[in-house]
Amino acid sequence: MINHPSPNFDARKDGRIKYLILHYTGMATGQEALDRLCDAEAAVSAHYLIEEDGRVFSLVDEEMRAWHAGVSKWEDDVDINDLSVGIEIVNTGHPYPGYESVYKPFTEKQMQALIPLAQSIVKRHEIKACHVVGHSDVAWRRKIDPGELFDWKRLSEEGVGLWPRKQTSTGDEEVNLDIFMNRLSQYGYDTEGWKEDATQLISAFQRHFRPQDFSGKPDAETFFILEDLLKQKAN
Ligand SMILES: [Zn+2]
Repeated sequence: MINHPSPNFDARKDGRIKYLILHYTGMATGQEALDRLCDAEAAVSAHYLIEEDGRVFSLVDEEMRAWHAGVSKWEDDVDINDLSVGIEIVNTGHPYPGYESVYKPFTEKQMQALIPLAQSIVKRHEIKACHVVGHSDVAWRRKIDPGELFDWKRLSEEGVGLWPRKQTSTGDEEVNLDIFMNRLSQYGYDTEGWKEDATQLISAFQRHFRPQDFSGKPDAETFFILEDLLKQKAN
């Protein structure tokens, strides 16, 4: 662990730490991201950054409120920064207008560094498995990180976060969109005004829980996955 303090934090108001939020940096290099997360003018940060070679940088003390989630919502919580620990994983991310990038898998060394760090965080703060989420889950209107190449399944197998159990039925039953959105809301997603952006919201769910197809189509398999996650969450 490399100590690399960022000035971009303030005091936690609530004091509870309920969530672990994962991000990718979405910049050309890890150094660039590290510089930005420690630049007072940028006013962004995270508690940790994990380089491609597996080095872990500690930027903000977990007891303090880092600035990584922005406008976000999960369940009834709107100040996600106040209630979470945030980890930035170095990855150039998806391209967007004005930024060229080829989104690539996270490195094995990153996963090997992330797993024990995440295990320690969820254990020390007693964070529920269903409260380990991505930036794209809590801010799906604006964000798609850490994206469909992040291995949530492996993380869950290591005891961090939920992953759907094998589906017994993936038939082509009609999915009622109102019910589907209601379930997404129960799971934690902010579904307000979903009619405008249903595809984007469903796509965010799929990037996390069914990354092989994140077209945003509300198919039966996606619905069964969500139903299973709700059952796991209730236990
Ligand atoms: Zn992010």
